[in-house]
Amino acid sequence: MKASEIRSKWLAFFESKGHKIEPSASLVPHNDPSLLWINAGMAPLKPYFDGRVIPDNPRIANSQKCIRTNDIENVGKTRRHHTMFEMLGNFSIGDYFKEEVITWAWEFLTSPQWIGFDPERLSVTVYPEDEEAFRYWNEKIGLPAERIYKLEENFWDIGEGPCGPCTEIFYDRGDAFGDLNDPECWPGGENERFLEVWNLVFSQYNHNKDGSYTPLPNKNIDTGAGLERFTSILQNVDSNFDTDLFRPIIDRTCEVAGVTYHTNPEHDIALKVIADHVRTVAFAIGDGVMPSNEGRGYVIRRLLRRAVRYGKSLGVDRPFLFELVAIVGEIMGAYYSEIVEKREFIEKVMRTEEERFHETLSDGLSLLGELVKTAKADGGARISGPDAFKLYDTYGFPFDLTEDYAAEHGMTVDREGFDAAMEEQRTRARAARQDTGGMNVQGGPLADFTAKSEFVGYEELAVEGAKVI
Ligand code: ATP
Ligand code: MG
Ligand code: MG
Ligand code: MG
Repeated sequence: MKASEIRSKWLAFFESKGHKIEPSASLVPHNDPSLLWINAGMAPLKPYFDGRVIPDNPRIANSQKCIRTNDIENVGKTRRHHTMFEMLGNFSIGDYFKEEVITWAWEFLTSPQWIGFDPERLSVTVYPEDEEAFRYWNEKIGLPAERIYKLEENFWDIGEGPCGPCTEIFYDRGDAFGDLNDPECWPGGENERFLEVWNLVFSQYNHNKDGSYTPLPNKNIDTGAGLERFTSILQNVDSNFDTDLFRPIIDRTCEVAGVTYHTNPEHDIALKVIADHVRTVAFAIGDGVMPSNEGRGYVIRRLLRRAVRYGKSLGVDRPFLFELVAIVGEIMGAYYSEIVEKREFIEKVMRTEEERFHETLSDGLSLLGELVKTAKADGGARISGPDAFKLYDTYGFPFDLTEDYAAEHGMTVDREGFDAAMEEQRTRARAARQDTGGMNVQGGPLADFTAKSEFVGYEELAVEGAKVI
């Protein structure tokens, strides 16, 4: 089953249960300063949830593009995480509650008319005190008690406001994905044998200012399921990246790089990261975010630069990410028309950004590689402040780029040492200005030094105090 069919089935199923289908909102939150990005299907519907707006229909379903930057380090390493993904959601604004949502989730998942998972492979988690949810799963659905795990963390609470227990649904991908004797395999564990596919949140309490909880007069349902995860199961592939949502992007990258997918684990990580980041950056630009030095713009700048670096690790030394936008459009354009309509613009922005980054990257990267190697050979796990400063000053590597690279090799960077070297340079520069009565020094090593430190091929990134997300 194609991913696009799964999405359509989701919407058709909930439409058949009386839901109004809402289109995906922009990745950029509207009137919500609390969020940098839309990170869940419910996020653009908050005004309904907190009662500011009354929806025409209290039942809503959508497929919402979401960005979660907190998952960046997982991308390429786990089978299931992306920085941008589609969250399938169904919502009840003071209408149906636990019994219906559990019954419908089960029907959608197991009925051959919908996505037809083998019911034997499904397990769920519930909040230990939520006996009601346990009872519906156990008595109404007939799920054996040993496949209902009680987990303390199944409670959604983000401080003041509506909150409540949740129940999550996991699909057992079988022995090839992990050993059942390993408790990390079980729902909630680190291993991905039991793949979390769907979270059903019962918002039934209000978390009050004084820390107490009182029942909400209007109880809501908020659910989220990962389209890419459903797809990986239904297409019976190893990871989300092997589905029709990602494979064409990866295959094209393989052609450009002259590598073969699934032959080298490090290459695979790079291919997955590139495919992931290209989608995120393309969609974000499509929603009006421009690469910059702050906030959202800085996030996409970092993602794009990360993808460039992974491209380099595959031997690609020219801008190529922008060429993948057309493929993203072929895969997702039928549902997200913006990615096709704004294709040329997105390509242009990405290409310019790529070109600029390429100009400065290569020399710095080889130095960084040497530094990591030397530090490791000496048994160290840290890049020194002066070295990080040299990368910054001579090669234009912002501190966080050095830090990212170091982290990928299990190392840290001496921030204090970096700051001290920066301060020292400023002091020297001030002294030099005084020596010459404020005139520019022409020629000589100092001029050279200053010129390099002011080289602005990557100007915004090198600016101090650039916000790091
Ligand atoms: P996980 O534990 O796998 O990180 P989560 O518990 O953080 O997932 P939820 O916040 O419950 O995820 O989001 C609802 C659903 O959205 C998840 O069950 C999953 O199917 C999907 N999902 C969440 N984060 C991601 C992501 N980074 N990439 C792809 N799908 C995701
Ligand atoms: Mg998560
Ligand atoms: Mg989880
Ligand atoms: Mg979850």
